[in-house]
Amino acid sequence: MIAPGGTIGILGGGQLGRMLAMAAAQLGLRAHVFTPERDSVAAEVAVEATIAPWSDAAAMARFAAACDAVTFEFENVPAAPLAPLGAKLRPGLRALEIAQDRLKEKRFAEEHGGRAAPFAAVESAEDLARAVERIGVPGILKTARDGYDGKGQWRIDTARDAEAIRLPQAPCVYEGRVRFAAEFSVILARGADGAVRFWDSPENRHEGGILVHSRWPAGAAVADQVEPARTLARRIADALGYVGVLGCEFFATEHGPVFNEMAPRVHNSGHWTIEGAATSQFENHVRAVAGLPLGDTATVAGRVEMDNLIGEVASAYEVLADPAAHLHLYGKREAREGRKMGHVTRTWPGE
Ligand code: AMP
Repeated sequence: MIAPGGTIGILGGGQLGRMLAMAAAQLGLRAHVFTPERDSVAAEVAVEATIAPWSDAAAMARFAAACDAVTFEFENVPAAPLAPLGAKLRPGLRALEIAQDRLKEKRFAEEHGGRAAPFAAVESAEDLARAVERIGVPGILKTARDGYDGKGQWRIDTARDAEAIRLPQAPCVYEGRVRFAAEFSVILARGADGAVRFWDSPENRHEGGILVHSRWPAGAAVADQVEPARTLARRIADALGYVGVLGCEFFATEHGPVFNEMAPRVHNSGHWTIEGAATSQFENHVRAVAGLPLGDTATVAGRVEMDNLIGEVASAYEVLADPAAHLHLYGKREAREGRKMGHVTRTWPGE
């Protein structure tokens, strides 16, 4: 267990790291961000920052020595340079390695009783043709690694589309497109003592592969699918000896929940917990990583909605006129198309 004034290391410099650093500060902990980015919105609110490439072994060793515990805020951190972090890294390397590879995470979920969309590994045009023949269309081709927010994905509606695709120079996975009634996520926190707590599951809407909206309560299509999805998420967390917040995304279908992917970190569809739950996902992640008891995850509002602010945010302050709105801007200097710049959570009391 970390004492007040201890240091939590955060690998990655984006908005998730920023919100983790703010939660750490509230608990009297110091955040130390390690990121290769010069303009890091996490480093901006952290006590210390190491700006260095992941491969800088000397910088990583200094960072490891300076932190009492270390976590990551995104899963595309290369695993090999993290070896010096040893047991300080929470959740551990195995969770990271599985979650950063779509093939590994689907197989892992299936091994633990989950159901994924039909999928096949694709490394060549012949693999893709075989996969399309076996699984059928429509489908989606995704790079197995390094994809996020819809990047590295190609929709395939006909066998012709598959023939026309110029495959990236990287392992891919072809998945059948799932006919879902809704999307939802399970977000849990697992403490260093193995205690597991779930937040309520929001229903999520994506556009172009990017989360745009989460709401709770979820619609009727989701209601009876949360329990089996939680069972899988808990099994995954237990099997990994996981410590921290884990986000698992599901499709609600007429045959029950279909596992899509897992994020070994705080999750965009859990941002609503800052105002909507007794303890936010950020605080509980920090608590878990620091070896502290988890806080209550109960929802404290009757209704919650979260909208991502994507792209231009010059007029974002207009939302402050809405008494239900809580605005979070991440302080990113450049608003690119498709870039997450902030989010707004609206909460309403119960009936
Ligand atoms: P991902 O990056 O895998 O989370 O995909 C982003 C979004 O694309 C998902 O949340 C869905 O809206 C959509 N999507 C991805 N894979 C599938 C699939 N196999 N079937 C249907 N929709 C999908």
